[in-house]
Amino acid sequence: MAGWLLAVILLVMATLFLYLRESARTSTLVRFRAMETAALLRQQFATMDSLLFSLRNELQSNIKLAERGFLKNPSNFQLHEISDLSIFSIGELAQPRPVQSLSGTLTGSGRLADLPKRERQEISAVLQVDGLFKSTLASLPQLKWVYYTSAQRFIYIAPKVSVRVYAFNDALYRKEFWTAAIPQADPQQRTVITRPYTDAYGKELMISLSIPVYVENKFRGVASLGLRLNTLQQILRKENEPYILLQLLDRQQHLLVDSNGDFGSPAWDLPSSDFVSHAVSDTRHGQYHYILPVSSDGLWQVAEVYSWKLFYRVLWSMLPGLLVLLALALLLWLLYRLRQANHRITKLSQTDYLTGISNRRAFWSLAGRILERQVASGMDHENVFIMIDIDHFKSINDHFGHPVGDQVLQRVVAAILAVTRTRDLLCRLGGEEFGLMLPDSSVSDCQLLAERLRRQVEVLEFPELEGLRVTISLGGTAIAAHEGIDDFLKRADKAMYEAKKRGRNRVVFAVVGEAGIIPVVSENQPGEVSAESSGQFPQ
Ligand code: GH3
Ligand code: MG
Ligand code: MG
Repeated sequence: MAGWLLAVILLVMATLFLYLRESARTSTLVRFRAMETAALLRQQFATMDSLLFSLRNELQSNIKLAERGFLKNPSNFQLHEISDLSIFSIGELAQPRPVQSLSGTLTGSGRLADLPKRERQEISAVLQVDGLFKSTLASLPQLKWVYYTSAQRFIYIAPKVSVRVYAFNDALYRKEFWTAAIPQADPQQRTVITRPYTDAYGKELMISLSIPVYVENKFRGVASLGLRLNTLQQILRKENEPYILLQLLDRQQHLLVDSNGDFGSPAWDLPSSDFVSHAVSDTRHGQYHYILPVSSDGLWQVAEVYSWKLFYRVLWSMLPGLLVLLALALLLWLLYRLRQANHRITKLSQTDYLTGISNRRAFWSLAGRILERQVASGMDHENVFIMIDIDHFKSINDHFGHPVGDQVLQRVVAAILAVTRTRDLLCRLGGEEFGLMLPDSSVSDCQLLAERLRRQVEVLEFPELEGLRVTISLGGTAIAAHEGIDDFLKRADKAMYEAKKRGRNRVVFAVVGEAGIIPVVSENQPGEVSAESSGQFPQ
């Protein structure tokens, strides 16, 4: 039982150990994934920021130069009017001979003839920066658009578009990329990020990063990058585990996009203190939040970890270890059962079914061991053997039946066991014949013991035998060194028959001397007690 308890405790501890190890590993993995993705996003936004800054700087210095008359006349750029749309344009996609050097399309409102000088100068400046528009697009393939929107009602957008699909119109001034970057909305002239919207030209989901362009402290327009939302989603999804939802939040803690592709949902409901203090965890509703900054100016990545899914994942990763443990436990259990069964079978094969003491087969191996010990200790005559036989047992069977005979056998055995020591070996050699091996005993002590045994049986009362007594005859002998079992058995047998011959219910010891084997009858024998008066059965 204690073994079982120990096994169960060990199993539970091993399972716990496995669980804790896998949990720790999975938590580390969650953090690692979140940090990896946040780093990728950070890189993406940092790159876009720096591209946007150089675009803004270039536009600013070129506009300044143009206004000072250091740039070529804008008429060199062959602006042409599209009168049915009331716009002018250059670099249009559908133009028969597209202006090869330009990477984008410029469209503006109004008639060319009425174009103010300042606007011509600004157009000239923007077109001069075209190389940077081109290289910006090339350096970041995820970008769909690079564009400059002027407060003087024109837009330059790369790559080229068809003016029939997309051209400057006043509605642009109501779009977030513009309204968020104008002086009232963005006095600090920071980069602004729009919420997701559907692209007017390609019908794709986009976000824009915009920065206002100021020349001599005067707001001129907005430089913008158009990024496919899909790009960000792909970063969030990259090697993402199913139990983590990675979300990218904007400065207002609105969802920009998450790893499932959801976008634009309202402000997040985490306490703002979590963000302000850069808290990394928040456990609510069975979810675990791991918050990391994506930019220094308020973009956040929130890793929302589903506790249950995580738990399953931990269990799943524990499975091989658990299976091995279970297999081991099963194996140990089977071995234990096998050992138990073996033990039982061995015990059964060595036990006499009626009396519960050792049988003849067991006697041979157990007595053999006692003899080996005797030889090893080098001491002579330390062991004694007594053969015990119930007198006239056949008559008991004949008169009272076999079952009563069985009871007599059991009670005689019990009476003998009550007198002997635990290290003495009593066994049923067959029928109503028993062998008693007495290790580390002297002959004289054993003669006394034999006499006690004889007496013990003699006084037993058997109501089933109608007042008749059961007696035993005992033949004892000392066991000599290096003697075989058969040798002392034969000698004890002879002594026992001598006891029978002398009238039964007595003890005879065979003593080995120079004159051969001499039977020695114990002094305190029943002597004259006749079979009749002792109530014994006649032979
Ligand atoms: P003696 O005094 O000379 O020993 O006479 P005895 O009748 O005891 O000797 P004998 O060897 O003739 O008889 C032994 C009897 O023991 C024979 C057999 O029926 C009986 N016996 C052997 N095994 C069992 C047993 O398991 N149960 C019962 N009831 N009787 C048994
Ligand atoms: Mg007998
Ligand atoms: Mg017999």
